[in-house]
Amino acid sequence: MRATIYTYPWDLTDEGIDSALDTIAHTAGLNSVSLAQSYHVSTYFLPHNPRRPLYWGEEGAIYFQPSAAFYEESPISPLISNVVDDPDYMRRIADKIRERSLDLTSWLVFNYNHYLPQRYPDAAKRDPFGHSNFAQLCPASPLVRDYAHALCRDIAAQFQPDEFHLESLGYLHFSYGFRNPKVGVKIAPFCELLMGLCYCRHCLQRAGALGLDGEHFRADVAEFLARELASEPTPQDLRPPSAERLAAAFSGRLQTFLDARVETATSLVEEAVAIAGQAGARASFFGSRDRIVNGLDSDRVLRNVYMVNAGVGGEPDSVRTLRGEFPADTGLSAIVHPGGFADGDALGAHLTALGQAGVNGYAFYNYGLIRRAHLEWIGTCCHLWK
Ligand SMILES: [Zn+2]
Repeated sequence: MRATIYTYPWDLTDEGIDSALDTIAHTAGLNSVSLAQSYHVSTYFLPHNPRRPLYWGEEGAIYFQPSAAFYEESPISPLISNVVDDPDYMRRIADKIRERSLDLTSWLVFNYNHYLPQRYPDAAKRDPFGHSNFAQLCPASPLVRDYAHALCRDIAAQFQPDEFHLESLGYLHFSYGFRNPKVGVKIAPFCELLMGLCYCRHCLQRAGALGLDGEHFRADVAEFLARELASEPTPQDLRPPSAERLAAAFSGRLQTFLDARVETATSLVEEAVAIAGQAGARASFFGSRDRIVNGLDSDRVLRNVYMVNAGVGGEPDSVRTLRGEFPADTGLSAIVHPGGFADGDALGAHLTALGQAGVNGYAFYNYGLIRRAHLEWIGTCCHLWK
C-alpha cells in the first residue's frame, strides 16, 4: 500500500537530504515521497526546520532548473525559486529518494499561481468586468496549456517520477488565492459563481464554438452583476442556485458557457494524465472536481487516474461514499494531518479506522509542517501499510 508524505524540497535540503529521508523511510516507515516541484505561495511554520522555522514562501514558483528545450512552444518563463541554488538541486533530491527505494511523486500545482498572471496577462483568468485575476491562470489560454504540457514533459525527462500528483489544473473558484481578503457583506452564491467564471478571450472563443456570442454574454453578466452586487441579497438570493436556475439563466446561455468550460478544463487534465502515462508514470489527483465551478467532468478526469488523495473521515460510510464517486479502478488515499491529533494512540486509532473502512493508501501532510514526534507516531502505525 502506498503511504506517502507531502514534502517541500527546502525541508529536505535545509535539514540535509540524507537525514530527512532516513526519518521518512525509517522513523516514519513510509514508502513514498510526494515532492513539491511546482508550488503556490504560502507562509510556512516549519517546527523542525533548522534554518527557518518561519518561511515566507515565494509567489508561484518551480523548484528545479527547467530544461529550455521543453519550453520552446511555451512563451511562459516560470519563476525559479531561490532555494534552487544550483542546477542539480532537484536532481540530487530525486536521486537520493530513489537510492532508498522510496517512490518519487512529482507534486505539481498548476493554475493556482500568483506570479504568472501579472507577467502574462493572456494567461490570467479574467472577470466579467475585464480585470485580471492575480492568483489564477485560465486553462483555456494556449499559453497555460502549453506551459502545463511543457512542465509535465520536462519533469518526466529530468526526474522520471513514479507518479505525477496533479493539483489545480482546472478552473478555480471565485475566492481561491484571495490575500487578506476584505469582504464586508454577504454575496449571493449565484453572483459569486458568475464572478468566479473566467471571461478571457479564450474562454469566450471556446464558448463561441458552441454557438454563444461570448462578448454579448459577458456584457450581460457584467450588467446583471453591477446591479445585483449593489443590493443586499434576500434570504432567497442566499440559497445556492438550483440546476434549473442555472439552466434557465441568461436564456440558457450560461449553461452553454458552463458546458464549454467542462471540455476546456477536463481535456487539460486528460492531457496531463496522458503525458504521465506516456512517461511510464502513474497519475494521481487532488482537489475539487465540481463540474460547474472547476469545469471538471469527474468520470473523464479520473478514468486513467490511479489514486485520489482526499481528506476523509474514518467512518466506513464516508470512505464508501467518496470511493463510490470514482471509477472502479481509481483508489482513495486518505490525507492525514498528524499534527491535529492529541497523541500517537489517537492517530493510530484514526489510521486503523481508515484502513478498516477500505482506503487504498495514506498521504500524510506534511514533512516540514509537523514535529518529529508526529513522524514517530506515524512510524508506530506502519504495519498498516507494510
Ligand atoms: Zn479564460
